[in-house]
Amino acid sequence: MGDIVIIGGGFAGLEAARVFSRKRSKLGSRRVIVVDAKPTFDFLPVLPDVCGSFVSKEHVILDLREYLEALKVNFENDEVINIDADAREVFLKGGRSLAFEFLIVCCGSVTNFYGAAEIERHALKLDTADDAAALLNTVATYPQKKIVIAGGGYTGVEIASSIAAFLRRKKVKKYSVNIVEKQDDILGPLPQWAKDYCRINLAALRVNIYADSSIKEVTENRVKLSSGMEFDDYLFIWAAGVQTPKFLRDLKFEKDTQGRLVVDNYLRFSEGCFAAGDAACFKSKGKALRMAVQFSLAQADVAAGNILRIIAGKKGLIKYRPCDLGLLVPMANRKACGKILFFRVWGIFGWALHYIMCVYRSIGAKNKFGILRDCLLRFFR
Ligand SMILES: Cc1cc2nc3c(=O)[nH]c(=O)nc-3n(C[C@H](O)[C@H](O)[C@H](O)COP(=O)(O)OP(=O)(O)OC[C@H]3O[C@@H](n4cnc5c(N)ncnc54)[C@H](O)[C@@H]3O)c2cc1C
Repeated sequence: MGDIVIIGGGFAGLEAARVFSRKRSKLGSRRVIVVDAKPTFDFLPVLPDVCGSFVSKEHVILDLREYLEALKVNFENDEVINIDADAREVFLKGGRSLAFEFLIVCCGSVTNFYGAAEIERHALKLDTADDAAALLNTVATYPQKKIVIAGGGYTGVEIASSIAAFLRRKKVKKYSVNIVEKQDDILGPLPQWAKDYCRINLAALRVNIYADSSIKEVTENRVKLSSGMEFDDYLFIWAAGVQTPKFLRDLKFEKDTQGRLVVDNYLRFSEGCFAAGDAACFKSKGKALRMAVQFSLAQADVAAGNILRIIAGKKGLIKYRPCDLGLLVPMANRKACGKILFFRVWGIFGWALHYIMCVYRSIGAKNKFGILRDCLLRFFR
């Protein structure tokens, strides 16, 4: 009898840990071990709000050791550098290794610089709460108040709106916030009405959009676009794509272009090894599911449930059947748009819905009340 190792203490990893904690009596003498490179769980959906100083950093982080201790789950604060699925071992950067009987890979995703070392050297990114605090501090202290954001997806749009709203609140008269997008419009898969809504909203915040343009060259103080346009003395933020962490991309299992592990209907990528959340590529109607909290939580429930079934010797595993509740793109001037179930949602109602969801999904009373308080304060700012 071996241990159950969960790689990553994010949305999926903590959900799996909660399932095992509730069913502790069914685990026999098996230990549950969560391994995470960070000591904290960072609540990613509100990181753009931290960049705009609308939500405080302390309300988006949770101490993993303390939280997992309460669940009676073990915690290893170390980075996973390799997995040997045949030998059933996970290797840690610190030099140790963990043997496992069952594994759930929930290591999420990180910014993808597409191998461009110059861009990685000069750009700010948004993967963690520390990144968000660094971004806020840099914008606040950068005298020129001129910013270029590469990537007009959800993250790029949310960062741009947060920074622009922050600068307005600070009564900065002359600022320049710009989104550069390779495609011919921002927010790729969203319906046209939502893209138009976001464009109007971003224009109201004085955010410029350069579509059909890519980043050609980045130096310490210059960003050059494919169109020939140049931005001198601008802060540069890269939000143009994500991929899974390197150790996962290096594994010899089938992966998609973002390095997500291709999983079967039961979320397995190998015998006794499961993946959930951003690290898993689950295809629904021939298309990989997008990366979102709702799928991470539901997949973690199925992966953990299947491990419990195998331990109990039950016949057959649970199939993962994705249920998409919809998505919202929130912007810092109390507007949002998107689709919830079959309904179009926009304006302040959509914005409120997004933060109600964030409060509901954040962990611990301190963070729930903190995010709620920060959001309510925004009504009066
Ligand atoms: C800025 C931003 C805004 C977002 N907004 C929304 C939103 O509004 N709604 C929505 O549904 N989704 C949103 N998302 C996406 C959503 O946050 C992800 O889909 C979700 O976090 C995925 O959960 P996960 O458990 O797979 O990974 P994560 O929650 O990212 O957790 C992964 C964990 O694995 C750890 N890890 C990584 N590599 C290693 C390693 N080698 N060794 C040990 N530990 C490791 C990390 O430290 C991290 O704690 C947003 C994402 C970002 C970045």
